[in-house]
Amino acid sequence: MTPTGSRFGAQCAAVGPLAERFAAGGLRLYLVGGVVRDVLSGRVGDHPDFDLTTDATPDRIRSLIEGVADAVWLQGEKFGTIGARLGERTFEITTHRAEAYLSDSRKPVVSFSTQLEDDLLRRDFTVNAMAVDVVDGTLHDPLGGQADLEAGVLRTPLTPEESFSDDPLRMLRAARFLAGFGLEPAPGLVEAARTVSERLRIVSAERIRDELWRLLVLGDPGVGLTFLDEAGQLPMLLPEVSERSEQERSEVFRRVVAADPVPEVRLAALLMDLSAPVLEGRLRGLQLSGGQRSTVLGLVAAVGLIRGRSGDAWSDEAVRRLTAAAGAHLTGAVTLAALAGTVTGVLDKRLAELRADGDLDDLGPMLGGAQVIELLGIEPGPDVGEAMAWLVELRLSEGRFDPDGAGRRLVEWWDNR
Ligand code: ATP
Ligand code: MG
Repeated sequence: MTPTGSRFGAQCAAVGPLAERFAAGGLRLYLVGGVVRDVLSGRVGDHPDFDLTTDATPDRIRSLIEGVADAVWLQGEKFGTIGARLGERTFEITTHRAEAYLSDSRKPVVSFSTQLEDDLLRRDFTVNAMAVDVVDGTLHDPLGGQADLEAGVLRTPLTPEESFSDDPLRMLRAARFLAGFGLEPAPGLVEAARTVSERLRIVSAERIRDELWRLLVLGDPGVGLTFLDEAGQLPMLLPEVSERSEQERSEVFRRVVAADPVPEVRLAALLMDLSAPVLEGRLRGLQLSGGQRSTVLGLVAAVGLIRGRSGDAWSDEAVRRLTAAAGAHLTGAVTLAALAGTVTGVLDKRLAELRADGDLDDLGPMLGGAQVIELLGIEPGPDVGEAMAWLVELRLSEGRFDPDGAGRRLVEWWDNR
């Protein structure tokens, strides 16, 4: 059953158990989207998720995969998608769709089809609109996706106006594919995006965040950011960045590209010139999780501490206080500050010295609560907390003490309070 001669042999083989069920039921099953594109562009990599499309109805998909899949999920069923896990791999199997979207709604109107061509036509880009029959490994490419991939062109199956208007999120996806695959926009694509750019407002913040995230982890998202700028998406996505001068924007984008390819770090690079309350509001608007938000805020706050101090004014105490405040964000923040033009040579050197000295290890209170209670002869309660806080201050302002030294200073302070 496995098409060994095909370029897609390995991918088809991974779908084998499902393929047999569908074939036995007289139904067709195709690999589609990213997997096909990546094999054709020589980036097979390790695609953990496979997208599949079929002429089977969602009900039928469910009954066909019963007993074969290790797990099944049905959240997407009303849009035609059944999720399945076989071993290490997850599969999303979707009934061919031929839907139109309501012009002002976030909710697509779904209509199913038995024709593969209908389904491919409603996909975002031709390079993503190729399908491979899992039984014989045949490539179905009615829209010329392979030729576009080879020519390096990002093209929509429908006119770009229609395609972007149907689902404005595709404009963000365009940014990701342009940057990630080194493609050039097809003629008219940028102009079309500019024409319908305002429609991005109808897209949910969650979908936007997820796509933005996928853009920001790319090795070089620069081309994508420039596209979003030129195609008029930036005012909806990051208004504070879009309001800056053209030169400043390109400076910010350069900074983002040079930063570590971690979405939170890249977002901090984009937004680090914002005041704290404006930044917080923007991160909420983007619907970041609490953890993502606090990472970006921590990074930007630490960058602020670094930028706020003149290049050579790094006393031991200043270095310790920065280290304590920045926590896990220290290295990222120093890099970001440097990318923003702060001279960090002295800080780098002082950090290395204090680190080698062990002075930055464990910037905590040096004594445990039980030791404090015993040394001061006090009861557990707020006094202990106050004493611990005083010890942390001592550690930051004066450096390390051995337990005896710390204890002596603590008792001295306590007695003279
Ligand atoms: P990746 O390899 O990064 O996962 P992908 O192309 O697989 O990229 P997905 O978001 O996983 O991207 O989507 C899978 C496929 O579903 C796409 O290749 C495309 O065919 C189709 N698709 C996804 N989102 C859209 C959309 N908004 N409009 C039309 N088609 C889409
Ligand atoms: Mg995918």
